[in-house]
Parts: sequence; C-alpha cells; structure tokens
Amino acid sequence: MKKIALIAHDNMKNDLIKFAKDHMEFFKKYPLVATGTTGKRIAEETGLNIHRYQSGPIGGDQQIGADIAMNEIEAVFFFRDPLTAQPHEPDISALIRLADVHKIPIATNQATAELVVYALKSKELN
Ligand code: PGA
Repeated sequence: MKKIALIAHDNMKNDLIKFAKDHMEFFKKYPLVATGTTGKRIAEETGLNIHRYQSGPIGGDQQIGADIAMNEIEAVFFFRDPLTAQPHEPDISALIRLADVHKIPIATNQATAELVVYALKSKELN
C-alpha cells in the first residue's frame, strides 16, 4: 500500500491534528510519513503510528518529494500557511511541483483535504 504524507506549517499544525483526529479510521489504514515536528505532534496527540522524516526546513519536504518520485505516495496532506513567509520556500515549491509532475493528489488546505479523504474512501470501496 502506498503511503500518505502529512505536513503542516507551524500556524496550521493544530488544524492538521484536528483533521487527523476527525479521520482516524481513514489514516489508520495507511502507512504514514510526516515532516519531523508535524509527525511528532500528530503521533503524540492522536496515537497514530507515523514515520518521521527531517523537519521541513532542514530537508523533510525534500524527503517526501523523493518518495513521490519513487511512486510511493498515495496522497499528500500539506496544510500550508499562505500568510507567512517560509525560509524553505524553494523546497515547498519543489514538493508541489513533484506532486504535479507525478500527478499525486496534494491537498494544501482543509477543504481539498476533506475531498481527498472522501475520494480515497470511495476508491477503497471499489
Ligand atoms: P515540521 O516541518 O513538521 O518539521 O515543522 C513542516 C514545515 O514547516 O515544512
């Protein structure tokens, strides 16, 4: 089974934790990977089993990008902060670009994330 990747910028981490809690049964079914701090917080607050990569700004986004390039990712849930400049903006662009290159769903906000969960759940039923 392909992995699901989780990333949230600092201001969005609480939102992604809540999202994970609201969709526990869904996330439990997948191998999960996440950038360092996001993975730590979600694991602590939900009990989900998550393989943690480096923190985003020091390479975690690129590690998820590498997984995409290796065709190991089903979808990315990337709760991006659109109002705060990030030091690793080039890595963020590279990650989104690779998702587009490989046609991997990448939800960058909660509305899209809900639709991706819904779509993957219906795919499981077929
Ligand atoms: P973090 O990385 O989960 O280690 O905070 C996320 C990011 O800011 O890219």
